[in-house]
Amino acid sequence: MSENPKDATELEWDSPLYREAVAQFDRVADRMSLDSNIQSRLRTPQRALSVTFPFRRDEYDTVETVFGYRVQHLLTMGPTKGGIRYAHDVNLGEVAALAMLMTWKCAIVGLPFGGAKGGVRIDPRALSRAEVQRVTRRYTMEIINFIGPDQDIPAPDLGTDEHVMGWVMDTYSTHVGHSEPAVVTGKPPALGGTVARREATGRGLVSLLPAAATHVGLKIDGARVAIQGFGNVGQFAALACEQLGCKVIAVTDVTGGLFDESGLDVEKVMAFVEETGGLVGFPDADAMDPAELFALDCEILIPAAIGGVITAANAADVKAKVVLEGANGPTTGAADDILNSNGVFVVPDVLGNAGGVTVSYFEWVQDLQNYFWSESEIVARLREIMNRAFSEVLDISIREKVDMRTAALMKGIWRVTDAKLARGVYP
Ligand code: NAD
Repeated sequence: MSENPKDATELEWDSPLYREAVAQFDRVADRMSLDSNIQSRLRTPQRALSVTFPFRRDEYDTVETVFGYRVQHLLTMGPTKGGIRYAHDVNLGEVAALAMLMTWKCAIVGLPFGGAKGGVRIDPRALSRAEVQRVTRRYTMEIINFIGPDQDIPAPDLGTDEHVMGWVMDTYSTHVGHSEPAVVTGKPPALGGTVARREATGRGLVSLLPAAATHVGLKIDGARVAIQGFGNVGQFAALACEQLGCKVIAVTDVTGGLFDESGLDVEKVMAFVEETGGLVGFPDADAMDPAELFALDCEILIPAAIGGVITAANAADVKAKVVLEGANGPTTGAADDILNSNGVFVVPDVLGNAGGVTVSYFEWVQDLQNYFWSESEIVARLREIMNRAFSEVLDISIREKVDMRTAALMKGIWRVTDAKLARGVYP
């Protein structure tokens, strides 16, 4: 490996998503003429922990070896913050890429955190609740010296939820000998979780829709919305769109897709998914092939499932005027170029889905102060932070003549660079 690695393929974290994250960072850093020492430093995560541990299945004699990761990209800004993902294919490179994205995201909305991410390579859908709990407790033990309210604060992500966060909090608290709610966010309110966290990412994303629509000259009332992913982010984004007067005409998940030109009844679909675990079989809408979602005739497209889904192969089919990225990394670099040249206004993930980490920040502050805010205070502060960040990013985009993703990353990288220069190099 070279002394000053530029090529992501030479690194331990090599993976398609990591290469994509580094390429994106390099593109923006070059555009900003970033100091080369800082550029090189920010390209690699500061800490990366890879663990393996035994996991006893419900069938007592079966003990599997499970892989887990926790990566902290940047310790300059304060504690690190980022979700824990449970997925059958998660790897160190993916987690490292997502940790880097978290650094930019926190800096873009002005939170006092560096980025982190965690992952456990299991398919949570194939596990019982008791098995998920055992995996969570053992994974928490494996990373326990790495996390803490002043050090690194996990949160939910793909395949994890408030129950998982409750078990992380309980395991951590049991081992330090006192209750420590501020070690994770996205917990149930009964454990020091905040109201409005579950809705935060979808709601925060859609709170940017009025400003985005004004910018592109789109009428929101009656605008048609298509959403990929109907989990935490997708559901609350759908609900918020409906509340703004949009028609949610299509949603998809791993089980299938639904279509209704006159607009789905989002609460009904949510209740159905809660009961059955997926969209397939919902009686009051047409079934749709999920592969057709991105090409649908609609005004607003919300990818809210997984990364790398809008690609060079399907980006030209996108008819929406506005893409609100709820998922992390849903658009590849090549697809981004196509969307931009076709005049599609993309609100990038690092800005669009920052509502989750923003309300997580509120949760952490409330836990540290043992003083809890009302839902209306949280919603108002969320909207204010998201919309302020949006208008600052839009200003940069207009001033620097760059797309919103580049503008958002420039804002985040500037903030991190200022902090790095102010702290200097130790020793
Ligand atoms: P989730 O597990 O609650 O839901 C994921 C949804 O995506 C499910 O409906 C699943 O069926 C669907 N899905 C998975 N693969 C799919 C595919 N190939 N095609 C169509 N649908 C598919 O997860 P979530 O918390 O809603 O997270 C979704 C995305 O948003 C992830 O990329 C995550 O990193 C990102 N995100 C989440 C939060 C948060 O607060 N939960 C915050 C920021 C970003």
